[in-house]
Amino acid sequence: MSEQPPAGNFHPQDAPSYESILQCMRCGFCLAVCPTYALTNRERSSPRGRAALARAVTEGKLEFTSVVRDEAFLCLDCKACSTACPSGVRVGTIMEFCRSQAQIFYPPSLPAGMLRDFILKRMLPTPALMEASMLPARLYQRIGLQWAVRHLGVNRFLPGVLAKMEGILPTLAPPLRLEIPELIPAQGPKRGRVGFFLGCAMSLVFPEVSRQTARILSQQGFDVVTPKEVKCCGAPHLAEGDRETARRLALINIDLFLALDVDFIVTDCAGCGCALKEYEEILEDRADHERLRLFRSKIRDISEFLVEVGIRTEAFRPVPLSVTYHEPCHLVHGQGLSKPPRQVIRAIPGVELREMKESSWCCGMAGSFALKELETSRRILERKLANVRDTDADILVTANPGCHLQLAWGVRELGMKQPVWHVVELLGRSLPS
Ligand code: SF4
Ligand code: SF4
Repeated sequence: MSEQPPAGNFHPQDAPSYESILQCMRCGFCLAVCPTYALTNRERSSPRGRAALARAVTEGKLEFTSVVRDEAFLCLDCKACSTACPSGVRVGTIMEFCRSQAQIFYPPSLPAGMLRDFILKRMLPTPALMEASMLPARLYQRIGLQWAVRHLGVNRFLPGVLAKMEGILPTLAPPLRLEIPELIPAQGPKRGRVGFFLGCAMSLVFPEVSRQTARILSQQGFDVVTPKEVKCCGAPHLAEGDRETARRLALINIDLFLALDVDFIVTDCAGCGCALKEYEEILEDRADHERLRLFRSKIRDISEFLVEVGIRTEAFRPVPLSVTYHEPCHLVHGQGLSKPPRQVIRAIPGVELREMKESSWCCGMAGSFALKELETSRRILERKLANVRDTDADILVTANPGCHLQLAWGVRELGMKQPVWHVVELLGRSLPS
């Protein structure tokens, strides 16, 4: 039996595997696709540099210094380097492990730690608390304060983070979880039964997207089962270095969905889909392998699902619009899904798809990155929006709530014309009413 390689100067709990780091052969193919390397031109902020830092810590040549910590958090975890890497090195994932290590080597202050624990361990795993957390924002909009702040230009005087938070806040509709029926029956000849994974961010911030997803699945001939006890997928926890809570949530979601007896489990959130497809890996020896494999075999992004089962287009109405498509990192790089969203868009009569340059380049949101690294995030977004502008398309389409928030904010800030829609919002316009 082979011995577990030492974690070196990493703490043994949730250290990146030495094997995953060793795969880097320093070829540099990843450099051209890394947004942080493009901005800094600094080796340590490149995928190759980050892999080298992790290797040095594992081999005991470097302590887990603040430089390693900072590079872990400056990485967008956009996974573009994984797509480019001929050795299959997943630097984004290695950096996720380094973020777990950062909690051990550089623990937050007591108040910051309490706030972090409350958000990750209490609020995100409890849908009712998530819904309650939006109440102040709803009130802010309901009494017209947001209108005043925006129209009087008050947000220009807010501190950077607050201004960004205010700026990305869309008009909030009531949360969908309590409203959506547990079962929406298939329309027309029945083709199967799917479980709908209602993502917390999507159903809270963009409930119309979730509503359209359920409507489309039903229109396409599937019974749609939406369990209300669904937990957060764990993506924010992986990104913030709380792998233990991510595992706890994964076990609950697996039990919940496997009990439903559905053919597929469908999500409209690229971030959720990516995390759900990683359950097998994050749980490793902590759950029954057969159940993990079965769960993994059922997960589909909505576009992936529609293309796989075949889109019934007979009743579709024309949607005479030109659109351009921004690929969410967690769809194109995290799940390898580049064609399906485009196939869905092209299936809609009347739609003209205008490809933008660098469609798979990150938009700069990357979870809390957009709030922690304001300037870097803005510069990455500007590059993206310049490419959107060049297409002169009517609509900017994407498939992830984080990208949606960031792009919609950028479009408003720059006075661009394109509204931002999810793929299913576009498709929904084509469905018979
Ligand atoms: S991460 Fe991959 S692409 Fe980048 S230098 Fe290492 S082996 Fe090459
Ligand atoms: S995940 Fe993205 S930001 Fe991080 S090293 Fe890879 S390409 Fe660069």
